[in-house]
Amino acid sequence: MNQIALLGATGSIGTSCLDVARVHGDAVQVFAVSANGSWQKLAKICHEFQPKIAILADESCRPNVKFDEFPAGTEVRFGAEALCEVAADDRVDTVVAAIVGAAGLGSSHAAVKAGKRVAIANKETLVVAGPIIMQAAAESGSELIPVDSEHSAIFQALLAGRKEDVAQIVLTSSGGPFREKSRDEIASAGPKAALKHPTWDMGPKITIDSATLMNKALEVIEARWLFNLQAEQIDVVVHPQSIVHSFVEYRDGSVIAQLSPPDMRLPIQYALSYPERWEAVAPRFDFKSAQSLDFVPPDLERFPALQLGFDVARQGGTSGAVLNAANEIAVSRYLQEELSFYDIANVCREVLSRHTFHASPSLEELVALDDWARKETTQWQP
Ligand code: NAD
Ligand code: MG
Repeated sequence: MNQIALLGATGSIGTSCLDVARVHGDAVQVFAVSANGSWQKLAKICHEFQPKIAILADESCRPNVKFDEFPAGTEVRFGAEALCEVAADDRVDTVVAAIVGAAGLGSSHAAVKAGKRVAIANKETLVVAGPIIMQAAAESGSELIPVDSEHSAIFQALLAGRKEDVAQIVLTSSGGPFREKSRDEIASAGPKAALKHPTWDMGPKITIDSATLMNKALEVIEARWLFNLQAEQIDVVVHPQSIVHSFVEYRDGSVIAQLSPPDMRLPIQYALSYPERWEAVAPRFDFKSAQSLDFVPPDLERFPALQLGFDVARQGGTSGAVLNAANEIAVSRYLQEELSFYDIANVCREVLSRHTFHASPSLEELVALDDWARKETTQWQP
């Protein structure tokens, strides 16, 4: 029985993961769950899955929580420290890191240091502190299995050959809701339009990141550290159908891809089942109906955020933490209609260029820079 700690249980990935646990209850047991502040939703999850521990990361919600709405067998804990404790708990086999943003870094790091299998959806962990996380995993023997669909595809395609024979990897992008819009139309697009993703149903932050292609920028950086590749070996192609989740090209020219309908339950399940494969929970690909698969190069003029991903993957050091923090604040200001669409990439570029670069920062330096970049981005005016 795989005992899982599902951190971020109330979100989009959390909900998909619970679907997998529901169907594969013979193999997966939910030991712990967490949410930020939505305790009613968490209590409902606890009634169905009967975890031993439920965590509310946001301490300030404590006075509102009705403890008798949680089942008797579930202990309710509070705060970010409780997330780290449960991530390292001896009774946990796998930590599903499904918190959004750099808020997920502490618990992911704790899980990696404790040698857990980490099913990593929280890409921000690797964007902010990739080299530190990978080093900690090498020391503890922790297995980091990607949940991000592109990285799951790459992980699977890498099983077809040797690492030293990889020429490049190509991450696919749906192109987001503005794939066919002009630069002028995109410039004036508000959050309502940006929140309408054509192929994926996800949380609001990653949905905006998908509209700017910042999500793909973050994924380039994630791939750089997770697979220990050179930045030059990572490319991006727009594939509107979101069926081919990414490819690996080997030195002999062979290209190995992974295909399936866009549904996060498959990569989540694979991160739990690997190296086994279990019966599908998500729908299968229908080869009998006519389908076409299109691939076009990304347009960096209309989606300038993507270039920041290539730049930061090349620079490494402190750049990932700064880009991520600036983007988190910029997205929240865009959602509040304080910034326009292209302000997001502009403020990220500016804050990045103003920061004091270090090539091999400590975790403490990264946390301090994250804080600095948030303040700079909060004050920034177009
Ligand atoms: P979401 O907004 O739907 O859910 C986020 C979860 O994190 C919720 O449970 C929320 O309560 C919790 N949370 C929010 N702020 C927190 C904080 N400060 N401290 C502790 N917990 C907090 O997000 P999502 O779409 O499920 O994305 C989760 C992660 O997975 C992100 O890193 C995202 O990039 C990644 N991801 C998501 C998808 C997807 O399909 N949704 C696909 C690939 C990768
Ligand atoms: Mg992805």
